[in-house]
Amino acid sequence: MAEKTKGEKLKDKLFYARKDGYEKLGAEAADAAYVFAEGYKAFLDAGKTERECADYAVKFLKSKKFREYQYGKAYKPGEGAYICNRGKAVYALRFGQKGAAEGLRVIAAHIDSPRIDLKAHPVYEDGGLALLKTHYYGGIKKYQWVTIPLALHGVICRADGKKIDVCIGEDAHDPVLVISDLLPHLGKDQAKKPLDEAFTGESLNIIAGSRKYDDEKASERVKLNLLSILHDKYGVTESDLISAELSAVPAFNARDVGLDRAMVGAYGQDDRVCAYGALTALTEGGIPERTSLLVLADKEEIGSEGNTSIQSRVMTDLITDVAVTQKAVHAAVFANTKCLSADVNACFDPNFPEVYESKNSAHINCGVVVTKFTGSRGKSGSSDASAEFIAEVRAILDGAGVIWQTGELGKVDQGGGGTVAMFVANHNIDTVDVGVPILSMHAPYELASKLDIHMMHLPSKAFWK
Ligand code: MN
Ligand code: MN
Repeated sequence: MAEKTKGEKLKDKLFYARKDGYEKLGAEAADAAYVFAEGYKAFLDAGKTERECADYAVKFLKSKKFREYQYGKAYKPGEGAYICNRGKAVYALRFGQKGAAEGLRVIAAHIDSPRIDLKAHPVYEDGGLALLKTHYYGGIKKYQWVTIPLALHGVICRADGKKIDVCIGEDAHDPVLVISDLLPHLGKDQAKKPLDEAFTGESLNIIAGSRKYDDEKASERVKLNLLSILHDKYGVTESDLISAELSAVPAFNARDVGLDRAMVGAYGQDDRVCAYGALTALTEGGIPERTSLLVLADKEEIGSEGNTSIQSRVMTDLITDVAVTQKAVHAAVFANTKCLSADVNACFDPNFPEVYESKNSAHINCGVVVTKFTGSRGKSGSSDASAEFIAEVRAILDGAGVIWQTGELGKVDQGGGGTVAMFVANHNIDTVDVGVPILSMHAPYELASKLDIHMMHLPSKAFWK
């Protein structure tokens, strides 16, 4: 190869070039990413709701000798403790060598994903079918949720205090549920409607049965038959569905995508991809320098409100308690605490180049995305991380050999989005978004690159060193 000219050398020095992770890291790193993806896929299949993910996280933490956190107790460096808040959100601490006064290192991800929730009075009968009324959860494109197999996950809480776990449609022998769509032969009017009008929230009714209860004298026999099956299986009545949380989620499991098997296709990768990378990193390596805190939050997809969301007081109470037990000043602890808000970002999609600004969008296999600000139309609803903190994060990522890139969510004025970052930042905590680029985000089947998935594990490890 001819030696580079002066101009070529100068260009190498001065220009920023986005790096392809495989080219940069080579075959060994690719193998590591493929191995990591196997555990990740099992995690996705085990957790399709925030409750199931929280259960998984608690079991995992217990297996790593983490114990339930006790307020008021002083912990020693290296000890691990967790709080599972109402079965839906998890806070896990690993105590560091330095005291709390030096600040904590927080990684916050969310474990709820868009889906179709049942209403309080879901069951009705029409046209010889038993159906379930729904109210979707989070930002979905409704047309994507019809004519796909759905599984029903959640809990039914009876008034006598008994809580019943429900999971129908995951076992290969289970039946699944489905929302119907109009046949194209009769779809002339539907085809002329804009996407957000062609499918309405009230038309997302789930088909749950079609056989009549065997008693000619009874009325509404298809509904009766369905309720009778639920009663036989779970001991519940229609009234018990008032105090239930039942969600329809895609019934298919995570799989490799592409002939090179370089991607994972699955439901709920936003944001379980970041949750898994961080959870598995928390327990690795020696005793961290500063205390590590992992937050797996609920309710991000509906605006981060409520007592299981990132805005719940639990995080404040927990950090304050760590400060008190270590006789540190709370304000100083918060001021010295730093956070990676670990959430996914949009990956450049060649099928829709018109909505992306290629230079500032995340690309597949180019690693985790550092996002200075989210928000929409003039950064509205974003915390906008400081240049100082981004420089610090750059140094950590480069120091750990992490492949990373920057990424804005699409073109300015095209739309946008937000995440938990601003709610953490409001506590006087330096916070920046770091996450995995996703194709078809919020669809029932999202895509992520195995290399990028693994790259979420590595910065978590480096941040918690
Ligand atoms: Mn998200
Ligand atoms: Mn989302």
